[in-house]
Amino acid sequence: MSAREFTCVVCPNGCSIVVEVDDDETPVVAKVRGNVCKRGEEWARQEVENPLRTIASSVSVSGGDFPLASVRTTRPIPLGKIRDVMETIRQVTLAAPVEIGDVVLVSPAGCDTEVIATRGVGSASRDVRRAAKAKGGMKE
Ligand code: SF4
Repeated sequence: MSAREFTCVVCPNGCSIVVEVDDDETPVVAKVRGNVCKRGEEWARQEVENPLRTIASSVSVSGGDFPLASVRTTRPIPLGKIRDVMETIRQVTLAAPVEIGDVVLVSPAGCDTEVIATRGVGSASRDVRRAAKAKGGMKE
């Protein structure tokens, strides 16, 4: 048995929560203290038993007026899957134009989420494309 301390991030109160954990191979919450409300207890239990995170990153854009589009997951994913999801995102190249909310990936690494664009990227002008092509940085 061990005790883990957290600052609850569910609301601005930031309660200090102590979770008593049975530390076998899979941690199991035995008791939660310090939370003011049930939401804090649920959050703390999840932090111990199945921590989740929403992640943000960026993907390459070809033929755009900016080389990257920012993206994020629409749902939090298990902490242990972040590396796989980031690797899947890293392999994506979108073709401009990209609109905010465009779905970039569905179920990356088997996770129950989509990855969507959070920044729009317009199509590059012909002059910009020509200059980029001359530098070898853009395919037409
Ligand atoms: S335990 Fe409840 S009141 Fe305290 S920070 Fe978490 S959500 Fe807010």
